[in-house]
Amino acid sequence: MSRPRGAKLPQVDGARAWQWLEQLAAITEPERPWTRCAFTSWHVQGRAWLRERFVEAGLAVRVDAAGNLIGRREGRVPGAPVLMVGSHSDTVPGGGRFDGMAGVVAGLELATALRDAGHLLDHAFEVVDFLAEEPNPYGLSCIGSRGIAGALTSAMLERRDGSGVPLHQRLLEAGAGGVPVASAVRSDVKAFLELHIEQGPMLEERGLDVGIVTTIVGIRRLALRFVGQAAHAGTTPYALRRDALVAASAFIAGLPALIQAGAQPGAYLVSTVGELKVLPNAANVVPAVAELTVDLRSDQPILLEAWSERVKAFASEAATRHGVTLADCAQLSASEPAPCAPGVQNALRKAATALGLRQQDMVSGAGHDAAFLARVAPAGMVFVPSHHGMSHTADEWTDAQQLEKGMATLLGAVLELDGAAA
Ligand SMILES: [Zn+2]
Repeated sequence: MSRPRGAKLPQVDGARAWQWLEQLAAITEPERPWTRCAFTSWHVQGRAWLRERFVEAGLAVRVDAAGNLIGRREGRVPGAPVLMVGSHSDTVPGGGRFDGMAGVVAGLELATALRDAGHLLDHAFEVVDFLAEEPNPYGLSCIGSRGIAGALTSAMLERRDGSGVPLHQRLLEAGAGGVPVASAVRSDVKAFLELHIEQGPMLEERGLDVGIVTTIVGIRRLALRFVGQAAHAGTTPYALRRDALVAASAFIAGLPALIQAGAQPGAYLVSTVGELKVLPNAANVVPAVAELTVDLRSDQPILLEAWSERVKAFASEAATRHGVTLADCAQLSASEPAPCAPGVQNALRKAATALGLRQQDMVSGAGHDAAFLARVAPAGMVFVPSHHGMSHTADEWTDAQQLEKGMATLLGAVLELDGAAA
């Protein structure tokens, strides 16, 4: 990198970004901080605020056909592909001040740092606030990044929320302009980078500054239905009971040990039952039916396949052992692991090393917009520490200094990728 690009080297300003983060976080449902759920008036207000900051940073602002808010700065080489940075400004209910927001503010900070230093990249630079990454009334996460990846189908656009408003109407309200959603699909992205909080305890526990994500896990969701026989809770002897909840409980209680016993070194594998429905759900009735959802995550497609089958077999054994039937075993959804591009990982590692940061490669156990971007462009993520690993709670916290180190890594990686051949 010998060409003089500007008066000085661009540098992130952690204090400035922290102020922006606080200002955006303050746009919240007042009774339930920090809540800015997608499509609510708070979310709309937050985006209006972001749009103003994008303009102040000298970015040309538009909303694409999938409702993503995009700020763009042209590069020096006409027609060169885009270096894109972004995350999401929507939150879960009662969520924190960092999940999503940190990555959007990081993009804004990079744009401002480049502008202030008079540093013109060869490539165009875009900061994106992806629409509706978190759960929303349409039962569809990552709506905006799906759109960019061409994975937002017409059936999805016809989905309606509780008051009957279809998703395509919401996209219009977000400023999408009524053009076909396919026009949001991108083939001009040289690399996509997302800064995000870790949402887990590893970085803090190990005293590390940043995590370089190697893969974003794939997720299988299975719906299991244990069917027994309803009976009187006072008069039915144990020997005659066919208690669906006892069978389901045995399955749930045994699942962590099963997964841990089968864990392979270096492979990521976790499974959770977070949803359970009991019928008839009455205090004096032996449960007839127990329905539950298994969430299975891994960084390796082969493990997702193999363990879906093992989990089903384990459920079937539990059912048999307790005299009930495993009546249904349906796959609700399946997403494949999204490997991060080696070139983007390397750029992030190199940047962290140059800054003297303590870093580690890691798998992301949570889904992110970057997983969809990885379908259309080389994508990568940098994680910053989450205090006590907490996330999706108002207690979510990342220190300003840690955030600054993450942003500096992101900037270093963007400069590195800009220097690579267009
Ligand atoms: Zn997030």
